[in-house]
Amino acid sequence: MATTPPSRSSRRLGLPLPLAKLAASAARLLSRATGREGGALPGRVLMALAPGALAKLSAKARKRGRRTVLVSATNGKTTLTAMLAEMLQSEGHQVVHNVTGANLRSGIITTMYQSRGRGDVAVLETDEATLPLVAPDIQPEVILLGNLFRDQLDRFGELEVLADRWRATLGALDPTRVTVVFDADDPLIAALVEDYVAHASAAGVTPRVVPYGLEDPAVAQQGLPHAADSRFCRRCGSALTYAHSWVGHLGAWHCDNCGLTRPDPEVAATKVVLDGLGASHVHLRTPNGEFDVRLKIPGLYNVYNAVGAIAAATVLGVPNARIAEALDEASPAFGRFERIPVPGGGTITLLLVKNPTGLNEVVRTLTASNIDVTASLFALNDLTADGRDTSWIWDADVEPLLERAGAIVVTGERAAEFGLRAIYGGLDPDGVIYEPDIEDAMYRVLERARDFTEHHHAYALVTYTAMLKMRAVIANQGWAQRYWANEPRTKARR
Ligand SMILES: [Zn+2]
Repeated sequence: MATTPPSRSSRRLGLPLPLAKLAASAARLLSRATGREGGALPGRVLMALAPGALAKLSAKARKRGRRTVLVSATNGKTTLTAMLAEMLQSEGHQVVHNVTGANLRSGIITTMYQSRGRGDVAVLETDEATLPLVAPDIQPEVILLGNLFRDQLDRFGELEVLADRWRATLGALDPTRVTVVFDADDPLIAALVEDYVAHASAAGVTPRVVPYGLEDPAVAQQGLPHAADSRFCRRCGSALTYAHSWVGHLGAWHCDNCGLTRPDPEVAATKVVLDGLGASHVHLRTPNGEFDVRLKIPGLYNVYNAVGAIAAATVLGVPNARIAEALDEASPAFGRFERIPVPGGGTITLLLVKNPTGLNEVVRTLTASNIDVTASLFALNDLTADGRDTSWIWDADVEPLLERAGAIVVTGERAAEFGLRAIYGGLDPDGVIYEPDIEDAMYRVLERARDFTEHHHAYALVTYTAMLKMRAVIANQGWAQRYWANEPRTKARR
């Protein structure tokens, strides 16, 4: 008789949930004992041993009265989820939410499993490709669909595939229970929500959908940037017309050919005042009236994140006053506009970049006011978590930053490629300062900040794994706290 690998045979057997849970607990203990945080291991064990675990855990949580929100988007989902969790907490809710980096299926199952019996709201950040794998099992009360951007060039074409999967995902939810909160400014997302509404209506159900968006022409960009992804009408294929566009292809769009138009946002930022890396001031229109918020997290795309979080919080019954309070307190998520003081004065600001649109927005925020960007660094890695294909840097408009900076420290596995990009972008080759080691590069840019700038502020634009490395160096120096116990450790230096 042929032998079958144990994982396979047990998957086929589908262990009863209690037994599988026991195995998951054991996995968690084991991973703790070996000095690593539980992470996604218990979820992986549950996935292997009890394929129906997520649906069962979700049904139980629902029965206990716990409400679940799923949040997905290419850009901003971590920040948006954190903002929403703060808003719910300020209203007195016990919020369960997945730690940074646990937004894949195994991480979400781990969170559901470890939080069973706790919390009255779960806010789960969900990877875009993972959403279709978990949403039908979870049957959330609210699903938030933010933007869909092309993440890297090697994923070209996946955008449409992803949109189709999201469309199918909505079709697998119960339209009488779920509220779909979505970014109306993204034509791709608006089109799939329109299909969802049409299907539900045909079946005699009027589903609850809440479009959100921006409405202040004063902060619009001039024309669509090179990196704009969804310029064509999903219904008829014609080029879309934009009255205004705000971030990438997000804007007030319509199709001249077939008449498809952006849905009117129910929650909208009607006036936005940005102040470089300072706080943004936003006036909002919501079904509960108009109000103002102050956002400590800079950048227009974080205004988008706030508006999305506000829309979801409103659906969940959080009053405007609590929302404003929470946003006033909210600090940047891990590595996203995180400003860290360094000994001897000055700061280093970590700016996560992972795709052309995100990079464009970071450049726009840094150059839109009088920020001295003389001490800037770009760290480009090409590990799986960064995206293996780094050619997206050629799609981004980095020229304004290069022009302002005059020189840039380049580091990471693919430092040379960004160096070349900078030279093509008009930087003098002498202005490209190669420092392959990320830690050395960080000290180099801090040196530049000390030597050449008045307030000693340095800016580090970093891809995901480069951010983890730099964050670990910083935590190791004691300049900032570690975020998780399993953050990679590095040896102390200097
Ligand atoms: Zn059209």
